[in-house]
Amino acid sequence: MDIQALIRDIPDFPKPGIIFKDITTLLRDADGLRYTIDALAEKCADFAPDFIIGMESRGFIFGAPLAYKLGAGFIPVRKPGKLPAAVHSIEYELEYGMDRLEVHQDALHPPDCKILIVDDLIATGGTAAATAQLVQQSGCQLVGFAFVIELKDLSGRKRLPEVPIITLVEY
Ligand code: 5GP
Repeated sequence: MDIQALIRDIPDFPKPGIIFKDITTLLRDADGLRYTIDALAEKCADFAPDFIIGMESRGFIFGAPLAYKLGAGFIPVRKPGKLPAAVHSIEYELEYGMDRLEVHQDALHPPDCKILIVDDLIATGGTAAATAQLVQQSGCQLVGFAFVIELKDLSGRKRLPEVPIITLVEY
């Protein structure tokens, strides 16, 4: 199935000069959504993760159904101040300035924590690299990354640790 045809370009969002890949049109399409989750599940099954980590907020949309299909748990990584219990946090660099991601301290603890990180899209790789650091600092085992979309020109995968990376659509 051509899911690329269901992803649309929105020019000048969120800033002038950026062409945003909008996945809401893919999510809205019942066949496209099912195909996307099934394709991710097929490619990720061999990782046999105990948990999937999804990053706020589009990582939740793909991560939770993928966890369901793989028989794994789901752990949210969120923007600062959103998680209610004690958190580990990590700062990472954006194009302009810094941002922070947080995960519950008691969500990640060895043993039995093979982790697969899932997001809708990898661009510079900053978000995924920071999440990987949270996983690795906890002592859990990072088994791979899965993204629906990869923006290849930005070479984000070079910033990630050496574990397998699954993608469905490349630009
Ligand atoms: P990175 O940290 O790799 O530069 O950016 C990836 C993060 O930003 C992901 O969490 C992703 O959801 C979001 N993102 C950046 N650009 C786009 C885009 O064009 N489309 C979508 N859907 N998400 C984007």
